[in-house]
Amino acid sequence: MVDLLKKDKQYVWHPFTQHQTAGDPLQVVRAEGTLLFDIEGKSYIDANSSWWVNVHGHGHPHLAEAVNKQFMELEHVVFAGVTHPKAVELSERITKILPENFQRVFFSDNGSTSTEVALKMSFQYWFNKDEDRKRVLAIEGAYHGDTFGAMSVGERDMFNRPFEPFFFDVDYLPFPESDKEAEILTKAEKLLSTKTFASLILEPLVQGASGMRMYSSNFLDQLSAIAKKYETIVIFDEVMTGFGRTGKMFAMDHCEVKPDIVCLSKGLTGGTMALGLTVASEKMYQSFLSDEMARGFLHGHSFTANPLASAVSCANLDLFEKPSTKEAINTIVNWNQTFADELKQWQSVENVRQQGTILAFSVKNEAGNTYFSSIRDRAYKFFLNNGVLLRPLGNTIFINPPYCITEEEYIELKSVILGFLRSLEE
Ligand SMILES: *Cc1c(COP(=O)(O)O)cnc(C)c1O
Repeated sequence: MVDLLKKDKQYVWHPFTQHQTAGDPLQVVRAEGTLLFDIEGKSYIDANSSWWVNVHGHGHPHLAEAVNKQFMELEHVVFAGVTHPKAVELSERITKILPENFQRVFFSDNGSTSTEVALKMSFQYWFNKDEDRKRVLAIEGAYHGDTFGAMSVGERDMFNRPFEPFFFDVDYLPFPESDKEAEILTKAEKLLSTKTFASLILEPLVQGASGMRMYSSNFLDQLSAIAKKYETIVIFDEVMTGFGRTGKMFAMDHCEVKPDIVCLSKGLTGGTMALGLTVASEKMYQSFLSDEMARGFLHGHSFTANPLASAVSCANLDLFEKPSTKEAINTIVNWNQTFADELKQWQSVENVRQQGTILAFSVKNEAGNTYFSSIRDRAYKFFLNNGVLLRPLGNTIFINPPYCITEEEYIELKSVILGFLRSLEE
């Protein structure tokens, strides 16, 4: 493996990377629990759960066993015209832990496809009803994935500028800072009352990629209620917030008004395999029933409901049923609260915020909060040198560690972050 790096440079094209200026990638060869190990055996705390997916950490034996067992029974089969036990088990179990209006589970492969499917479903819902509703309402700063529909409803920024001419029209509400809530709700009512909107899509309570920006469940309830009043389909993209991240199983568990469609991925398989779910209400599903083939939802992927991914998702749900998982989440929530109070004492820190296991803060920065802020690069390097893999979003530093993180590891993580702040004040 001596020439891993050389061959990587020769053959590989990495995500979100400008290869001309990017430094060398970290060469990770092994992982266990909260820790990643590089080619030289140095360990790194996986402080963002490997792009927010490894909720139980790495190499969990129960998940490993589920994949191994399933592989020997049925590793893959087409899902059109075919069913299999693990897809059915996962569908039943997921609908039972979601609020009662979620009855139908559609499978795809990742977070982007789960939102793409939700958007397609909501457009076709109106198509099937022969009603002209083509607009979508989203929130500024949103991230729903990198496929075209998902990009269309996301923030229009330099990440997707080359593709902008190809996006469909979307109206955006400003991000609901607490002092702007009333004004934004008035704007939402004005737009939605035209009854031309097919759907409202949002990341409930925490906008992830825009920098772990948080807003109130009270605002969300009011916005969802307005959408429902005008029969707009409400889509919660819980790709990031699902599976315990907000302290409860789903962000919607903090809300009174439930959406019509929810998108799940990331933590769904415990971070082991690619799978996405779009879960819809029975009302949505019924609107696709017809004697005409064309009114059905004619969408699918080669790996739809892959049995290995379905089996490991069921095993992931086993872990969530254990009281010890709930306790681990509560413990992290408490540690985060204490850490948040400490961070507020720092001169160089502002906007400390927390939602469950997610803790975020901004480093004061003259250049403003941009993704390319030099603070980001400085922080990333500092953390790597000190055995922590943590990818800041611009000048926002955040942790969303695996739930298996030990007290010792959390203390270490904290001390590295404080070490970085100290280095800024030198
Ligand atoms: C990561 C993410 C997605 C996209 O998921 P991928 O699996 O990366 O395609 C969509 N929505 C939200 C809220 C996300 O955090």
